[in-house]
Amino acid sequence: MTTASANGEHEVNQVEALTEIHSAFVMACEALTSPSYAPRQRAETLMECHGRVLAAYGPGIPLTFGEFRAKLRGPLVDLLPPWVAPEGLEDLTALDPDGYVTGDAFDLKWETDELQRIIRKLQGFNSRRVSVQALEDHLAQEEIFSIIKGRGEAQYRIDRSNLISHAAQPRTEIGELGLPMKAIGFYTEISYESVYHGWWFPCPVCRWPMKVSKLRSGDRDHHKVSCFYPRHAETGASYQFRPTAGEAPVLHPSGVETVPPQREVPLFLDAGGDIPQAVRAEGHIALKRGVWRYTCVPGLHELRLHEVLTRKLAGTGAEVRLWPMQDAFDHLVTVPTSDGGKHTFTVDLKDYSHGRLLARTIHRAEGDKGGAEWLVVPDHRANQVPLLTGVCAEYDMKATTMTEFSEMVCRTAGVDWP
Ligand SMILES: [Zn+2]
Repeated sequence: MTTASANGEHEVNQVEALTEIHSAFVMACEALTSPSYAPRQRAETLMECHGRVLAAYGPGIPLTFGEFRAKLRGPLVDLLPPWVAPEGLEDLTALDPDGYVTGDAFDLKWETDELQRIIRKLQGFNSRRVSVQALEDHLAQEEIFSIIKGRGEAQYRIDRSNLISHAAQPRTEIGELGLPMKAIGFYTEISYESVYHGWWFPCPVCRWPMKVSKLRSGDRDHHKVSCFYPRHAETGASYQFRPTAGEAPVLHPSGVETVPPQREVPLFLDAGGDIPQAVRAEGHIALKRGVWRYTCVPGLHELRLHEVLTRKLAGTGAEVRLWPMQDAFDHLVTVPTSDGGKHTFTVDLKDYSHGRLLARTIHRAEGDKGGAEWLVVPDHRANQVPLLTGVCAEYDMKATTMTEFSEMVCRTAGVDWP
């Protein structure tokens, strides 16, 4: 790792340093708090992370192991050297008050890894050491796609849809999904962060185990249960329960009901009115966090967009395809036009928490790797569109939200929205 130099390399070095420090930060925080680490393994991981941060700093910036450990509890910005801009991450901490790694920190780690991978590819895999652990989530995601890709396009669609809609599953029923054996290996025990006295709770939107944490208000103990994906938690997947002596806790909704604008209703992922029931952790398995976050979470939007457009465009002669041509795009929509021609829309859906990193990833990859014309973000990420539009324009791409895209397609086909 080199430090800053006064030319175009500067930006790459900044991104590399930020990636490396952030990745080490999150990994160290996991090691510090997760009960799955043995003491020796915990110490080794913390030392490795400390070494990675020092390497990213370059010579001349001291940081003792004690200082490093102390800074893990604070914001990421405290760990950055003066020459790395915090890029809007000033408030980011890796651990929430319960000592769990936050969804935001988790997303940033994956999203910087994605960018790092592209930079590394461009640099021709130079001698820099790649930490397997740092890239584990990213690799899990890539690997699972390559595993399910080998059995033809129709089966790929079935397998990917099954993964998206079965984020957690009774162990005895996993075989019924017909997934390749290797893909089943991406399901693991329900994580300790989601278990209370042997019980867990599926998110009503994504079905993945929700986070359980303790709340203290006055002299009464409460427990809070909410999806790790902040948007699900904010739109209904947020509950409380009273402590129990071991019997199944009963959830009570704690959030406010979200009513989307009328035009966004068809694509809105509703938590529904049903309150999740406690499920025994024993005998259940759930997808690894990286696969859940980058397959299931955006996948629910992809499935919904496909389903809604298919329904809306029925009878117009339009063709709506999901993950076509070996997953070159997420969606391929062909709409006949009044002059006897046809209009084709190629779409990739991107659900990044950090719009700047998505913009940089597009920039580094010089557009979309499958050649999609449209980059579409979920409606709740509408604030990323202006930034993405600027970057996309350089590569003949356009950026918009799911609803705006659907409105445009329907308009082309002469169909009303919503
Ligand atoms: Zn969820």
